[in-house]
Amino acid sequence: MIIQLKKDLPIKDVDFLTATITGFGYQITPVSTQFGHYLIGIGSRNFDIRKIGHLPGIQDIHMVSDDYKLVSKKWKVKPTKIDLGDDIAIQDGEMAIMAGPCSIESEEQIVNVINHLKQSGISLMRGGVFKPRSSPYAFRGLGLDGLKLWHQLAREAGIKIVTEVMQVSQIAEMYDYVDIFQVGARNTQNFNLLDELGKVDKAVLIKRGISGTIEELLQSAEYVFSGGNEKIILCERGIRTYERASRNTLDLNAIPILKAKSHLPVVVDPSHGIGIREYVPQMALSGVMSGADGIIYETHENPDKAYSDGQQTLNFDQSSLLADQIRKTFALRKTFQLL
Ligand code: PEP
Ligand code: MN
Repeated sequence: MIIQLKKDLPIKDVDFLTATITGFGYQITPVSTQFGHYLIGIGSRNFDIRKIGHLPGIQDIHMVSDDYKLVSKKWKVKPTKIDLGDDIAIQDGEMAIMAGPCSIESEEQIVNVINHLKQSGISLMRGGVFKPRSSPYAFRGLGLDGLKLWHQLAREAGIKIVTEVMQVSQIAEMYDYVDIFQVGARNTQNFNLLDELGKVDKAVLIKRGISGTIEELLQSAEYVFSGGNEKIILCERGIRTYERASRNTLDLNAIPILKAKSHLPVVVDPSHGIGIREYVPQMALSGVMSGADGIIYETHENPDKAYSDGQQTLNFDQSSLLADQIRKTFALRKTFQLL
């Protein structure tokens, strides 16, 4: 059960509501976000809400049978818009394109990518400064200094930054230089990190875990929302299956299912999803047709020289072409009556 509270409710009214609903056998968790105040009731799924609907301070009550509550579409039918300012948003009914290198490598590389994005009409740049690498000897990223430099150059160009945060202690130091905090597939169930990202007023893009279910992704998003932050984007980036012909198995099924289950925007990462440069465009466009609200992919001036993930990275010509194809495919999708 989700109880939406009226604005500026005195604490004594909240306490009274909590005590009353607890009396009906519910365990209550209060949630305050940048947009609202809620009481989350865990208990019977069958409850006659008329028993409490008249109580003062309640704006709305919703019975949500899913294990996740606040990210469910069962109470919030209207899709969530992630507004990043400067007329840049990620939302249902639009197509966001986020592109950039796997790793931020140098000033020259940042400038090259920014120029390419500007020419292609892309205003969201991805890139890692803290890199989770399978080998401890691989390039681990430029760190905070790289992020500061990137931020300065991106701001001048009117470009927003999407970058991975790997641990709680990095949140505060990265905060001023980030537009979207990315939670990587290896951290999807780092519940301490998710809790802390609930405390910030910045968008959070959560990737699906390497072996994570759709339900687990939604539960991870529930951590951030219930921690206090409603600005969440879900990302399908492929899961590990028995198939070895591709890096991961991009689960396109997840797109319509996530869109049906949650009000949050959903984006697709075809680069990590298939892991093979030549096939990234096909999977990106399939993601668009599957109902995604955005595509996030890797691009680099010289992919074969990239410090990480070059094998799945597009060069700038391929990237420009793909951005154009994404827009055309999205325009086509809009002409269909797909859910
Ligand atoms: C990345 O985006 O570069 C990355 C490491 O992604 P993932 O967490 O999906 O592997
Ligand atoms: Mn990568």
